[in-house]
This record gives sequence, structure tokens and C-alpha cells, in this order.
Amino acid sequence: MLYQTHLRVHLDAIRHNLAGIREAVGPDVAVLLAVKSNGYGHGAVEVARDVERAGLVDRFGVATVPEGIELRGAGVRSPILKLSHAFPEEIDAALAHDLELAVVDAAGADAVAEAALARGVVAPVHLKIDTGMGRIGTTPDTAPELAVRIEDSPHLHLLGAFTHFPTSDTPAEDAFTDGQIATFTRAVADVQARLGRCLELVHMANSGGVLAHPEAWGTMVRPGIMAYGYYPDATTPRTIDLRPAITWATRISFLKQVPSGGTVGYGRTWAAPRDTWVATIPVGYGDGFDRHLSNVGTVLVGGRRYPIVGSVCMDQSMIDVGPEPVVAVGDEVVLLGRSGELEYTADDMAELLGTISYEVTCAIAPRVARVHI
Ligand code: PLP
Repeated sequence: MLYQTHLRVHLDAIRHNLAGIREAVGPDVAVLLAVKSNGYGHGAVEVARDVERAGLVDRFGVATVPEGIELRGAGVRSPILKLSHAFPEEIDAALAHDLELAVVDAAGADAVAEAALARGVVAPVHLKIDTGMGRIGTTPDTAPELAVRIEDSPHLHLLGAFTHFPTSDTPAEDAFTDGQIATFTRAVADVQARLGRCLELVHMANSGGVLAHPEAWGTMVRPGIMAYGYYPDATTPRTIDLRPAITWATRISFLKQVPSGGTVGYGRTWAAPRDTWVATIPVGYGDGFDRHLSNVGTVLVGGRRYPIVGSVCMDQSMIDVGPEPVVAVGDEVVLLGRSGELEYTADDMAELLGTISYEVTCAIAPRVARVHI
């Protein structure tokens, strides 16, 4: 292995997860894969290229114009939707790279129309309707008026309408999600009545929507986290089999004896409770290995679990491998993934850190080499 600390991305797992989504939603529902934030840390370019080649997705979703430009530069040809609206000064670059844009208000619609006119193109846009996320979007009541404004512009093509769910992954909140689905469905019906035509892409479902709300599938779904192998919440119904797609690994770089009472690392936050051996691993918070793992996290080596001792440093961390170690310099250390019979997932680490798998995988730093296999 070229890199001491690296992320192995198992593309077959992502393909498996997407095939499960496709099978569940059926052939009449398109699939947009969210590849924002570097494909939730998995490498947006490599993931997008692979699943595009496999014919598993119809569209990609990004958060920023540069994310979309990066995909285009890598040869990705599928439609790409920027899920949040663009600042006026970003629109020309978005259109130049054939990105679809979200429209949330009249000023935004006019700005896209103006940029499309200047470029001599018709810009495909999606109307974003806020039904309860409270983030961006026009209200359900103002949606028809905004739709007509878009339809009346010769430089815009209203391709679709969408909304987003804050709690579709949580069964205890089903009533709220059901209310959103009803509100959005009514708003889209009003829009279509005013336009006198159907919208091609009516989309609501994030992973929670895909897994738990078939009535929210519309004509397209927008999964993110589940494609990378994680259920969005511990309580989300597991209606589709998912496989985590990463092994985050490093190797033991140094091994030393520490006498009982000897301390380790910055701040001397850990003292050996007995004579022991401590191994150093070349990974730290500069790699996205969270400093809150200090003295509470664990890693896997050779199918055994070992505790992280002392404070996680920027580039290195230490683990207690016991008085009679069965490990050696050079041994692989699994930070996330499988080792022998054991598995430690982003969900496990997220629970320890009081966060969600999304943040754990997105936080794996760019300097950690991604190896796609
Ligand atoms: N759609 C939109 C608008 C989003 O912002 C996101 C991600 O946050 C997704 C879809 C995918 O969500 P998830 O990763 O929960 O499936």
C-alpha cells in the first residue's frame, strides 16, 4: 500500500446500495445521487464516474457550483442539479458547465433568466418549495405564481419542483412528513393547473423518504447517505439492505514499552495503569480523526479492539496494545471498517462522538488518500 493512512472506497458496496434503491422505487422513478461534500467523503468524481458507467443513476446533486464543475471536468455527462440556489455571480459558470439550478424566489428566477439570455441558452431549473424544512424555498402558496414567471421566460425551462424533509428518517415524526407530502402534492397540483402541463421531475425523498415513505417517491428520489451504506437514523425502517462502503485504515508506525504510571501525549491525559506497550499510528485530527476520540475511541488491529490513549494529535495518535502485544510495526490499523470478525462503522463512531454518520465521513480530510476498489 502506497499510503500509510488511506480510505479504501468499495465501489461495489455503493453499486449494491444503489441497485437496492432502484429495485425498490421501480423503473418509473428516476434516481438523483447526492454527491455533495466530495460524495459524503467517498470521492465524488470516482463515485459519480463509476455509478454513471454502471447506469445506476439518472442525475447527480451537488451543493456548490465548483462541485458541479469538478464533475464536468472529470467527464461526468449526466444532468447535475445544484440543490441550493446560486448567488447571481455564480450563475454564468453554472450554465457554462450545464448545471441545473434551483429557483427559490422571483429575484432568483430573473437572475438565472438574465444569465441564460446573455449566454444564449435556455436554463433548466427546479422550483424549490419549502414545506417545513425551514431552509430555502418559496412557500406553497406562492409557488404557482413563481412557476408562471419561470414559464413565461423564454430563457428558462421549468423542469421540476422539489421539497426537502427534516424528519423523514424518524418514524416518530411521520405525521409531520405526511403533512409535508400532502402540502407539496397540493402545491405541485396548483402549479401544474396554472401551467396547463405536468412537470417532468417532482421530487421529495431523501434517504429517509426512500426507506420509509413510498408515497414521497414522486418521479425522482434524491438519496445521499443510504447510497454510501448508512441508514439516516437508528430508528429508520431498514427496508433496503445497505452496506457501508469504506475502510479507513492506517498502519502502526512505532511501538514502545510504557511503564505503569508513564504518561502519553499532549496534556498527559493518560497514564498507563500497568506496564504496557503503546503503539503509535500516523493519523490525527488533521486527517479528520476527531480529537474527541481521545481516551474514549477504539481501533481494530488483527481482529482485536484497542483503546486510543492520550490526546489525539494533529498527525498521530496512540493506542494501548497491552502488556504482551500481538501486533507489530507495519500492521494495518482499521479506524472504520472490518478487521477479522469485528466491524466498526461510521455509525458507531458517530454515536460515540454525539453526531451522525454524515459528519464522520464528510470530515475525513482531503489529505487522506482515497483508493477506489
Ligand atoms: N436532497 C437535498 C436537498 C439535500 O440537501 C440532501 C442532503 O442533505 C439530500 C437530498 C440527501 O439526503 P440524505 O443524505 O439524507 O439522503
